[in-house]
Amino acid sequence: MTPTKIDGLVGTRTGDRCGMDEGRVHRNCPLCGAAPPGGEPLRYSHPDWPLKKCPSCSLVYLEYAPAYVRLEEEFGFTEQYDRQWERRLKEQPILARLDKWTMWRLGMFGDPTPASGMRAWARPGPVLDVGCGTGDEFEKLDDGYIPFGIEIEKRAAAEARAIFQKRGGQVLNADAVSGLAQLPEKYFNGVAMWGYLEHETNPKPALEGVRRVIKDDGIVVVKVPNYACWNRSILGNKWTGFWHPDHTQYWTPKTMAQLAKDCGFDAHFRLYGRIPLNDYMYVNLRPA
Ligand SMILES: [Zn+2]
Repeated sequence: MTPTKIDGLVGTRTGDRCGMDEGRVHRNCPLCGAAPPGGEPLRYSHPDWPLKKCPSCSLVYLEYAPAYVRLEEEFGFTEQYDRQWERRLKEQPILARLDKWTMWRLGMFGDPTPASGMRAWARPGPVLDVGCGTGDEFEKLDDGYIPFGIEIEKRAAAEARAIFQKRGGQVLNADAVSGLAQLPEKYFNGVAMWGYLEHETNPKPALEGVRRVIKDDGIVVVKVPNYACWNRSILGNKWTGFWHPDHTQYWTPKTMAQLAKDCGFDAHFRLYGRIPLNDYMYVNLRPA
């Protein structure tokens, strides 16, 4: 199959959708739209970033999320990842080191990467990485795949673009919602949202955008921290899944299945994908 080339794409930002307050966006529940409950935030909250649990759909989310503009550099993922490890090593040296040294345990649950997901389930042709970072994941894909990406962090997007363009793909430096809106309908065989849906301020419009650009027989591979895992109950606010304010909502198998359904997908949890032993949840979405 010869892929159609998408030329002349320029990253843009449509602007934030809710009230802005010094770089923060106030949000209703990003899953069901209900107003945030009053009263004290959850005990896991950071003092500057109140965490709430929606009384109608049970999603746990930040009532205020950082505005997109701050993600372009200040809270960009690649910067924040290094900062987060430094902070954890300083504050909880034993726990953080143990976590880092035992990353191999994630391997017990198969070979979960976006590239392996594409190889296993997506037909060769155009594939899209939403929040592609510097592009090192889709760089590993076999030749038959044409890598595309959307990345809000400027520097990372430029690095990924250099790699993807050589293979006939493209990278948009944009937030996911406005990036997806620029891509053609029913174009992609596969989409990766890997460590992404916990960050996105507007997860529903983003997944609806994916529904528009994916083919009817395509697949979306998703990885997010699982708020319903045992480690969260045991470790409390020391759980590895808590990143304030990077993670703007915390999914469980129940809320993830609801999000999928609302956006026109069926959720298929991978075998190891929702067991509470695992800090992460792995789910494949297929157009319903
Ligand atoms: Zn809700």
